Amino acid sequence: MTTIETAEASAIPEPSPRARALHEASLVWDAHMDSLMRVLAGEDLGVRTEGQADLVRWREGGVDVQVFAVWVDTVYGRHHAARRALQQIDGFHRLLEANPDRVGLARSAADIARLRGEGKLAAVLAIEGGIAIQNDLALLRTFHRLGATSMTLTHSASLDWADSSTDAARCGGLSAFGREVIREMHRLRMLVDVSHVSDDCIRAVLDLSDAPIIASHSSCKAISNHPRNLSDAMLRTIAAAGGVVGINFYSQFLDQAYNDEMGRRSVDLLAMLNAPPPLDPDALDAYADERIRTFWSLRLPRPPFERILEHIDHAVQVAGIDHVGIGSDLDSGAVPTPVGLDSVSDYPRITEGLLRRGYAEADVAKVLGENFLRVYRAAVG
Ligand SMILES: [Zn+2]
Repeated sequence: MTTIETAEASAIPEPSPRARALHEASLVWDAHMDSLMRVLAGEDLGVRTEGQADLVRWREGGVDVQVFAVWVDTVYGRHHAARRALQQIDGFHRLLEANPDRVGLARSAADIARLRGEGKLAAVLAIEGGIAIQNDLALLRTFHRLGATSMTLTHSASLDWADSSTDAARCGGLSAFGREVIREMHRLRMLVDVSHVSDDCIRAVLDLSDAPIIASHSSCKAISNHPRNLSDAMLRTIAAAGGVVGINFYSQFLDQAYNDEMGRRSVDLLAMLNAPPPLDPDALDAYADERIRTFWSLRLPRPPFERILEHIDHAVQVAGIDHVGIGSDLDSGAVPTPVGLDSVSDYPRITEGLLRRGYAEADVAKVLGENFLRVYRAAVG
């Protein structure tokens, strides 16, 4: 490892009064967080918690719009995925029902404006992993009725209708059914999220329509060469279609040295992750929890805060200032993040860091949220 945690602590950009004022005045949009896993585990996100986000700290971090991912682990397979998704959607609605004075469901740009005016967090619901629809458009429509306005097509494994960037291709991007899924999403006005999917899948989605797409939580391959990150060519492709890329704060996606070391250490872990799962639904839940715990137990020294700003800078240089945002991926079982970004409360440091790099205030506001709002308005309404 070339990055040492303690040596970098001094490089944290503490927000000036100007940065705080700009951050507070700006629409702040986080395009991806896994907090619903914590709701499922029985945590109350209405109070200050040990995790990386809760209703106290979304406010501290100045977040106006939080996209909540309904993440379905590949182990659930076609016969259990919808149940897992519905458990999390239930958790999402329970969180909102318990805190009506602080958070509300947003299904449109108008909802976001109204909730922001009321001083509430706008909660956007997103399906992460098309496995959740179990190859049935009726389930896609049902998730939409329950509030979901976007869907990430795959997670880490390829489906028989969409290819993942971290698995062998199964259908050359999108199958005929995959194209039906995209057409139905467009008809419903659901936003297509291409984080996790292969480059061929991104191109196949864009061949079907010129509606803008997002990569909600993907960083830059030019800085950390991980298959989950986007190449410069893909950054340009998404931007050319009017889309937005949300920079992911997970250390492995941000830092090449961290990525290299994880690659060396995760050989045994991959064997465990690829073992066949149990079929009993109750055993499956425990198995899935253990998998994710084991994965996140692999800890390395955290990279410096600057990495986040470097990825934003790189994406802005390649894709343009109108096509970059934030998709933190926090709360994935306490995901290791750079020093100085411990929780959502630390987001004003991003604003300070961008100002120090010479960004105009209007451009900082675009990255913080205006870009995602533009695409959401165009694709969802
Ligand atoms: Zn993800």
